[in-house]
Amino acid sequence: MDNRELKLIFQKRRDKAQRDLESRRHEIYEGIPKIKEIDKHINKLGLGIAMAAIKHPDTAKLEMKAIEEEIKMLKRERAISLTEHNIPHDYLSLHFQCDKCEDTGFVDGKPCSCYKQEMIKYSYKHSNITDVLDRENFSSFDLNVFSDEYNDKYKTTPRQHMKEVLSLAESFVHNFDNSRNNLLFYGQTGLGKTFLCNCIAKALLDKNHTVLYQTAFRIIDTISHYRFSNKKTPEMRFQYDMLISCDLLIIDDLGTEMINSFSTTELFNIINTRLLEDKKTIISTNFTPMQLSENYSERITSRLFGNYEFIAFYGKDLRWE
Ligand SMILES: [Zn+2]
Repeated sequence: MDNRELKLIFQKRRDKAQRDLESRRHEIYEGIPKIKEIDKHINKLGLGIAMAAIKHPDTAKLEMKAIEEEIKMLKRERAISLTEHNIPHDYLSLHFQCDKCEDTGFVDGKPCSCYKQEMIKYSYKHSNITDVLDRENFSSFDLNVFSDEYNDKYKTTPRQHMKEVLSLAESFVHNFDNSRNNLLFYGQTGLGKTFLCNCIAKALLDKNHTVLYQTAFRIIDTISHYRFSNKKTPEMRFQYDMLISCDLLIIDDLGTEMINSFSTTELFNIINTRLLEDKKTIISTNFTPMQLSENYSERITSRLFGNYEFIAFYGKDLRWE
């Protein structure tokens, strides 16, 4: 994936930190000319150190020590002067948005938490889901679109049923940190599965959880890209790791991916690892529970039947109403 845009975000943050510092400095220099003089002096001495090292390497050590001592004194004088004017001691140093990584996005070569958050926002932006989440969330969920015709098979009306599903989804969000629930939405297209996934995603993103929402097709694509690439970029590794490490993974449209031994092995791996690591997952599928067991290995379906709450979606296709 192309992450120039992401790099640019961090570059802009560092530039801003630099610009802000310069404008603070300018302001201080105007108000307290003495500080300007001291800084000028310090810069000159700094240059002196560099010159000494080049010109007389033999005696440089002694000379450098003397200069360093002088710089130290000047800095002390500067600090006192700032304090006298009630200016915070770090006013003339760089202020980053994230102190952990100083807006580079990485700590010891590993993505910083701020980077992960940006990455998620970025992937949401590129899946056009940010717009969707503005439209499809718990406050825009309208139970009235569901029919109130009695359904013989389910012994209730779709509307009544959805009311229960909705409250289950809300409690899923509410108890997100201290429950072990995983959800599986099944039913035909157009019955509100994706809408409800969006509601949950939005609510958890608003609570600063990392949520990854991807179709099964995309997930398998990401994994095979990662597995079969000779040159694994940090972004590829990150995308892959996120499948396991995000707080909530929403696997949309399970069953529309190419189902073969590679994809089922990888799928099992994700589902199983997330269960072991106590990470929650929501799956939505057009398959019935029966079709799931026909299409997936026993290893996968036993994990699903054993650890997921199955929720049926039924009624009339809402897209035509
Ligand atoms: Zn950071």
